[in-house]
Amino acid sequence: MSKNIVIAIDGYSSCGKSTIAKALAKKLHFIYIDTGAMYRAVTLYFLRNKIDLNNPVAVNTALDNININLDNHNEQTLVLLNEEDVSEEIRQMPVSEKVSQVSAIKAVRTEMVKQQQRMGKSKNIIMDGRDIGTVVFPDATLKFFMTADPHIRAERRYKELINKGEKVSLEEIYENLALRDHQDTTREESPLSKAKDAIVLDNSTINQEMQLEFALTYIRPLLSDKNLE
Ligand code: C5P
Repeated sequence: MSKNIVIAIDGYSSCGKSTIAKALAKKLHFIYIDTGAMYRAVTLYFLRNKIDLNNPVAVNTALDNININLDNHNEQTLVLLNEEDVSEEIRQMPVSEKVSQVSAIKAVRTEMVKQQQRMGKSKNIIMDGRDIGTVVFPDATLKFFMTADPHIRAERRYKELINKGEKVSLEEIYENLALRDHQDTTREESPLSKAKDAIVLDNSTINQEMQLEFALTYIRPLLSDKNLE
């Protein structure tokens, strides 16, 4: 059997990584894995159980008690935390405000990376996150690094949350993105950075169809190589 294909998509917060990853997964019949959702689910558990982030014993015990499942269902990813559907709650501001702090903890990353590597073993996958091309799958078949103007990203995210009925301000969203970018790029443990061999996709001024076409330009040759077209 030919080797499985792993497409890694990394980049800044709210760049539309999951949108393009989902569209590609649907088109190619690959499995989509949203690693940000995993860090968000851990963060929700920590918040609910008031875990002291500076207490390694409490953090490790909590990690032992967390079971995360991503269930792809009718183009939606259901995020299950100990079998409870937390897909909506993990996108809300309390989690967004804490997630970069939680995901900077070494023990948290070690556990999540282990699970992500297991999920991607011998399957054709598209995985998005911050460290997929650098740490989780350094040998990924193809790597994309997404970026966009921070103001445009904040506006997109703001509209998305307002449409869901959340009460948020544009300033609050912009500040949260800027803070997460800062924390994600400067942390000690696997900081967000572009893998040397990643293809940059700046979507500040291009629409979703154009992004998909751009990505497919690189993906199509792989598919024909492996008779998957
Ligand atoms: O992708 P999303 O914005 O939902 O990710 C939420 C947060 O999870 C990021 O801001 C980052 O702190 C963390 N994360 C990470 N490594 C990943 C995916 C997400 O540290 N692979």
